[in-house]
Amino acid sequence: MSPPQPSQPDQGWRPGNDASEPSEAQVSGATVRTGAPEAAATGPLTLRELDAISVDRLNGVGRQRRRALAEVGVESVFDLLTYYPRRYVDRTAQAPINEAAIGSEITVVADVLSVSSRRLRGGRRLVSVDVGDAGGVLSAVFFNQAWRERQLTEGRTVALFGKVENYRGRKQMTNPVVDVLGDGSAADRTGKIVAIYPQSETAGIVTWDVANWVAEAQRRCSARGIADPVPDGLRKGLGLAGRAQALADIHEPPSMSDRSAARNRLVFDELLRVQLVLRSQRLAREAHELGIAHEAAGDFIEAFHRRLPHALTSAQQRAMADIDADVATLRPMHRLLQGDVGSGKTLVALHALLIAVQNGHQGALLAPTEVLAEQHHYALRALLDGLEVPDEARLGGRRPLRLCLLSGSSSATQRREALVQIATGAADIVVGTHALLEESVSFRSLSVVVVDEQHRFGVSQRSRLRESGRDDRRIPHLLVMTATPIPRTAAMTVYGDLDVSVLDELPPGRTPIATQWVRGPLEAEAMWTEVRCEIEAGHQAYVVCPLITESESLDVRSAEQTHAELEAGPLAGLRVGLLHGRLPSADKEATMAQFRDGKLDALVATTVIEVGIDVPNATVMVVLSADRFGIAQLHQLRGRVGRGSDASSCYLVSDDDPTPTAMQRLTALSESSDGFKLAEVDLELRGEGTLFDERQSGRSDLKLASLARDLKWVQAARDAATDLIAADGDLDAHPALADEIDWFASRRDPDYLQRS
Ligand code: ADP
Ligand code: MG
Repeated sequence: MSPPQPSQPDQGWRPGNDASEPSEAQVSGATVRTGAPEAAATGPLTLRELDAISVDRLNGVGRQRRRALAEVGVESVFDLLTYYPRRYVDRTAQAPINEAAIGSEITVVADVLSVSSRRLRGGRRLVSVDVGDAGGVLSAVFFNQAWRERQLTEGRTVALFGKVENYRGRKQMTNPVVDVLGDGSAADRTGKIVAIYPQSETAGIVTWDVANWVAEAQRRCSARGIADPVPDGLRKGLGLAGRAQALADIHEPPSMSDRSAARNRLVFDELLRVQLVLRSQRLAREAHELGIAHEAAGDFIEAFHRRLPHALTSAQQRAMADIDADVATLRPMHRLLQGDVGSGKTLVALHALLIAVQNGHQGALLAPTEVLAEQHHYALRALLDGLEVPDEARLGGRRPLRLCLLSGSSSATQRREALVQIATGAADIVVGTHALLEESVSFRSLSVVVVDEQHRFGVSQRSRLRESGRDDRRIPHLLVMTATPIPRTAAMTVYGDLDVSVLDELPPGRTPIATQWVRGPLEAEAMWTEVRCEIEAGHQAYVVCPLITESESLDVRSAEQTHAELEAGPLAGLRVGLLHGRLPSADKEATMAQFRDGKLDALVATTVIEVGIDVPNATVMVVLSADRFGIAQLHQLRGRVGRGSDASSCYLVSDDDPTPTAMQRLTALSESSDGFKLAEVDLELRGEGTLFDERQSGRSDLKLASLARDLKWVQAARDAATDLIAADGDLDAHPALADEIDWFASRRDPDYLQRS
């Protein structure tokens, strides 16, 4: 720590000069604190103000510490106050070493007295550390954790949690859980609940430093206090603590129940902010955007439904009814269609597109990849074959519906023709990749857009979509489809600005997919035998190759190698195709067509086949190095089989030594095929951050709230946001809250201000 500055207990923050003009003195670390007239400040501190105060205003935070803190995302006092403890050591219940009973599991807080390390027979390294408090000494021994020597240096204060053993008359813990609290005396902070902050070995951030800075920040905030913009009635109705209280108690809880009260309040704060931003963005959108009203019922749509090969599931019917209602108004539809793999989203999408056509407009279907666009085109062609559109040119006349694929594999001439058809309206439905939006494709009258796989389709593209209706300033109706199974309440948060329809029912007659986790070469051999049997019985198989890195070229090489090995080994004599992202589009399409037509027995592929591919005769899915894939991805891959009436199987082949989390993933997948259940597991294992990657850059909105565990608060925040905004579209009655939301929105999304 840099030399402590004379602390001035009630010194507040000098107002206003922070974000604008950090003085040289502050940046250099030799901060001169003048005790400037804090009294000039007015009213309690808002989060916006706290976010404008740099952490280098704190004692002991110089240039180096500032950089270290920035590394863990802490740049402002707001960041610091919301740098929440990872856990707590309850030193009210902590035992001094001399009272720690042999056999009990317990926390001791003590100073490191000495550290030694030696090599055991067999090469294992043993680090042993003596720690002591006022009353006694205890040894902690660590096997194969040589780095403990660097972590537990003499003089450091540590909290150890573990079982107390008796080793040759001395108290000992083996491989205890360790928290380094900082340097200094173990006597401090006894009898308290001590917060343990996320530490960064690399940045050199230890928990007691953080605790000291937090305490200083709190002290200096206390002059003005911290504002609570949440209306009192709402807060009290939910039994929530005030914000200042909660921010104090989360860091220094008098008791564990105070801590959970604090947490509830702060969780609610986070979720309410997200909900209010989403709601107000939505309102802004609705106020500005004008769409085209459609007649959903009609002969044409009826003809389409009459010709469908199977009855709709009731979930499909519900979703279509939602869409019918949406597109009937001038307010552009913004709907998310969420449905597990195989739930039949394509028909719902097509229904929406055909409403556009029935009303004399065009529809576009956008897929994330070329392969998928081609697949969609193929599927739609089959479903639309023979369907006729009322012909504008001849009263009462009909013409065939025209479907057009705009793909990377089209020749320049084909492409030019397609663009003309799109521009003149000769094409009724256009299928392409998301690139359709990027390019200057102009439509005669685009009124319905369906985007497949929302998780690859970011906010920026959505806003571009708004511009694609530029011709007459009408915004097309938008339906986004996702198979990413997000728990419903989480979806409310992640997609809070969209309406949601859920296909929570699979078409009848599906047989469950038997999923097996394959470990070791013997099991793999048995697997290949079964795969060959399936193929001999006339079915087909997918083999998905290890995802090596983010680098596509390495993935490609691994796919090529696997293909060669399988052809020479386990799948010798069979017709084995290869599909990966680097192949020319024409080759990809040709390979897919061969597989679809049953001219290939097996298809070795990278994850290009992850979404959307529909070949009902394929009944086997083998995923190699499955431990390297995420739950959602494996679930998607598995969804490529089980699409016909025949029993299907999925083999998840793991590498030698999967991580514990990977094992949990593979177990979850072998035990469940329910996408929503798996999503909950996924959320548990991965945390929330990942859900938001499309939506924000870097800083996480939810530091404390868990979408998996705080469903109650998600719901409460959503209801509160709805009420607050319904009563008062602009939050005019709550200027402080409105200001906070504005600050928050611009912080989470730098484009926000430009867009709104
Ligand atoms: P996904 O939601 O994964 O995109 P698809 O739309 O590809 O699902 O449909 C999966 C399979 O289910 C397709 O083979 C499709 O023909 C079939 N299907 C869709 N709806 C029904 C239904 N109502 N009854 C029977 N089969 C259906
Ligand atoms: Mg699909």
